[in-house]
Amino acid sequence: MQISESQDLYRRVDDTEERPYRCFRGLPSELLERNQPSMSSYQIAVLKGDGIGPDVVDEALRVLDAAGGPVLSFSEHPSGADCYKETGDPLPEASVEACRQADAVLLGAMGLPDVRWPDGTEMRPQVDLRFLLDLYAGLRPIYLYTADHCPLKGYGPGDIDFVLLRENVEGLFASMNGGIQLRGEMAVDSMVITRTGTERIVRYAFELAQQRSGARSGNPPGRVTCVDKANIFRSMAFFRQIFDEVGTGYPAITADHAYVDAMALYLVRQPQTYDVLVAENMFGDILSDLAAGLVGGLGMAPSGDIGEDAAVFQPVHGTAPDIAGQGVANPVGTILSAAMMWRWLGHRHDDEEALAAAARIEDAVRLVLADKKAATPDIGGTMKTHELGQAIAAACN
Ligand code: ATP
Repeated sequence: MQISESQDLYRRVDDTEERPYRCFRGLPSELLERNQPSMSSYQIAVLKGDGIGPDVVDEALRVLDAAGGPVLSFSEHPSGADCYKETGDPLPEASVEACRQADAVLLGAMGLPDVRWPDGTEMRPQVDLRFLLDLYAGLRPIYLYTADHCPLKGYGPGDIDFVLLRENVEGLFASMNGGIQLRGEMAVDSMVITRTGTERIVRYAFELAQQRSGARSGNPPGRVTCVDKANIFRSMAFFRQIFDEVGTGYPAITADHAYVDAMALYLVRQPQTYDVLVAENMFGDILSDLAAGLVGGLGMAPSGDIGEDAAVFQPVHGTAPDIAGQGVANPVGTILSAAMMWRWLGHRHDDEEALAAAARIEDAVRLVLADKKAATPDIGGTMKTHELGQAIAAACN
C-alpha cells in the first residue's frame, strides 16, 4: 500500500470543522452526507451482511467520516443469511441494483453456517455479486504493519508487501450452482479458464506491477508471478500460456511462475520476495488466507473486487460466527478496504482529494498499530472492535 510522499496531499479541506460520528445502522436506506466542502461527491452502497459484518463496517464508516475527503452519501441495503431468513432471498434484486448504481460498494461479510440452501451449500451473496457485476479482479494487498503481527522471525514493518490478485469470476468457482451431483453417488465441479478472462486478469496484474514499481523509490522493476498447477492440468497450462503471451507486452516487468503447492511453501519461507501474484479463483481464495496469516490474520486483510463498471470493497474474512456478537472483531481489514475504496475512486475520477483521504486512513492505521497495545485479541491485544476503530478515527484528525 502506497503512502503519498506529497505533504500537500495530507491537507484537510476543513480541519477546523466538527464532524461528529453518526450511527450508520438502519435499513433499508439511510442517506447520510458529510457536511464538508468538496469538488466531488460519491454515492456508496453499504451491505453490512451477517455475523461480524455490521460491527466492522460501522468502524470503517466511523473512520471514513473522520478522515474527511470528498462528500460521501451512504445507502444501506439488505443482504446476507439473515436477510434470507427474513425475505427468502440473500441478495434481493433491489440491493444488486443499488450496487450497480453506486459509485462503489462497501461490504462487511455474509453467510452463516446454519443457513444453507437445500443442496447443503452456504449462502454466499458476496460471491454472487462478483459474478453479477463482473468484478473480475480480486485485489488483496498483503502488508505487514508491525513485527508483532508476523508469525515469522525477522520481519518488520513493510518487509512483507505484495498483492495477491485473484481471478474472481471463473476458475473453479464458475461451477458454482452448476456442478453435477449424480444419483447421490458422484459429484463434479469443473475448472473454467477462458482466454478473455485470463487475458484481462493477467493484464491487470502487469499494470499493477508497473504502477507499484513507479511508486517505489528508485523505481525497482516490478515482478508478476503466475501461480498455477500447469504441470498437471490442461486448464492451468492454458492459464500459464496466456500469462506468458500477455507478459511479452511488459518487458520491463519480471515475469515468473510457481506451482500453487510450492507457492504455499514459498510464501512462508520468502514472502519478502513477492510483488504481484496472479492466480485462478480457487487458488487465490486459498492463498489469501495463508497470506493474511503472514500479517496478523484475516482481521488485517483488506480487499477490493474490481470490474470495469463497479467495485466492491470488503475485508478478506468471513462472518466469523465464533466471535460474532462479542464486540472483539478486528476492524482493520475493513478500514483498509475503505481506504482502498478511496484510492480506487481517486484513480478512476482523477480525484486528488480522494487519494489524500486514502493516505490519511493508511497513515492512521500505521500510526495506531505501531503501539503494541492498540490491538484486538486476534492480534494480541484486549481492545474491543469499537475501541480500535475509535483510535484509528482519532488518528485521522
Ligand atoms: P469465509 O469462507 O466465509 O470467507 P472463513 O471460513 O474464512 O469464512 P472466517 O469467518 O473468516 O472464516 O473466520 C475464520 C477465523 O478467523 C475464525 O476463527 C474467526 O474468528 C477469525 N476471524 C475472521 N475475521 C476476523 C476478524 N475481523 N477479527 C478477528 N478474528 C477474525
